[in-house]
Amino acid sequence: MTTDAAGPLESVASARRALGEGRVSSAELVEAALSRAQERVALSAVVGVRPTRAREAAAASDARRAAGEALSPLDGVPLLLKDNMVVRGEPTTCGSRILEGFVSPYDAGVVERLQQGGAVILGRCNMDEFAMGSSTENSCFGPAHNPWDPTRSCGGSSGGSAASVAAGIVPAALGSDTGGSIRQPAAFCGVTGLKPTYGRVSRWGLVAFASSLDQIGPLTRSAADAADLLAVIAGHDPRDSTSLPEPVPDYAAALDGDVSGLTIGLPRECFVEEGVEPGVLASVRAAVEELSAAGAKLVEISLPHTAHAIATYYLIATAEASSNLSRFDGVRYGRRAAGADDIDELYRRSRSEGFGAEVKRRILLGTYVLSAGYYDAYYRRAQQVRTLLRRDFDAAFERCDLIATPTTPELAFPLGEKSGDPVTMYLSDIYTVTANLVGAPGISIPCAPVDGMPVGLQLLGRRLDEATLLRAADAFQRRTDFHEQRPPGPPEDPT
Ligand code: GLN
Repeated sequence: MTTDAAGPLESVASARRALGEGRVSSAELVEAALSRAQERVALSAVVGVRPTRAREAAAASDARRAAGEALSPLDGVPLLLKDNMVVRGEPTTCGSRILEGFVSPYDAGVVERLQQGGAVILGRCNMDEFAMGSSTENSCFGPAHNPWDPTRSCGGSSGGSAASVAAGIVPAALGSDTGGSIRQPAAFCGVTGLKPTYGRVSRWGLVAFASSLDQIGPLTRSAADAADLLAVIAGHDPRDSTSLPEPVPDYAAALDGDVSGLTIGLPRECFVEEGVEPGVLASVRAAVEELSAAGAKLVEISLPHTAHAIATYYLIATAEASSNLSRFDGVRYGRRAAGADDIDELYRRSRSEGFGAEVKRRILLGTYVLSAGYYDAYYRRAQQVRTLLRRDFDAAFERCDLIATPTTPELAFPLGEKSGDPVTMYLSDIYTVTANLVGAPGISIPCAPVDGMPVGLQLLGRRLDEATLLRAADAFQRRTDFHEQRPPGPPEDPT
């Protein structure tokens, strides 16, 4: 069954076709995905599966289809979630020991929508603890590995989601992106990763890292698949006060392969040799040329405050994190330290034992920048620079429809290379954090690999204009086959 059903698992489009033509059942897809997860267990991409619930959902989907009542393009398709989106009756760990034993009493907004669309939620993916990181090394489950080269990082923090799609365990997964955590692992693993506009997808039931930056989005094989996922998960949710009450366009209909009317801006600050691997830059330049050959117009633009984006992001994100993570106190959720004599000691011990080093670092930094004596110098200043970055984007989008940059300054780095040096790790987010600070949508799509490793082209769009982003990404994928390239399979079983 595994091999028969393996083809349809390659993408949402192939799964949908095979299901529609009756070549495969959702039950078979779920079995195939479960065996793939098992075959690829060494990647540590998946941290928990729910076979019984998934089989029930698949059987219900097969019955609907037999009655001619498929609910959406995702009906019967097995998917994985990053382990920071809650599912009723299931654990959610956020890659943290502090959530040990926590079981959610409710479903996240995206989970409800996926289920309303008939998608089968198979389980949970590895991630950096509380989504803080760029390598999936900050996880209580240990690091996830890159399917293209298991000695390298799959990126982070949604690394398990990206690796699962790249390894063909599932055709799509959800991730969350606070400063690049969908787009950067997509780039490292050779898949498509979309961060929607802030407010486009409900954050209800997404465990908060930095609430003004967090956004859920899909990791898929192609922009066309991302359009199908976004159509299901997007839309207003009154339970998230920052959710936008805007209509959701027909994303699939926007994919007409035509970029001839589009102007793409190339920020001069992002195409400098300094700090970027030359191979990455060359690959991204070639991808932009391909879009130009398809009819898009290229213009040079400037985003003058780019140099301040990383500092601004790491002030705002840590400030919000320090406040959001205060709820994990050993009383309300998950793990509680034993042997404390009073409540203060209980908090202290539970948090000291439960949080990992990077999360503690961020809580300390965030508490510092919010403290009375330093608030104006750091937090307020960062908010002011955030406004300047937004103005940079507004001015740029008067001259172009999309902005193109590399997604990351380098190829997937070896595991362990940056884990001891947080500043170097933070600097690798240089191209991705701005979209979160200004609320704009962004996508990473595979362009020409370098030394056998994937490279990502990032496209950024106007707020709420995911349709144009997806159209350009899809047009590129119609003309290239980088998104169809697959990593090597699992090593032969030595036994
Ligand atoms: N790498 C960034 C950080 O560590 C972004 C994380 C994210 O988007 N969740 O904060």
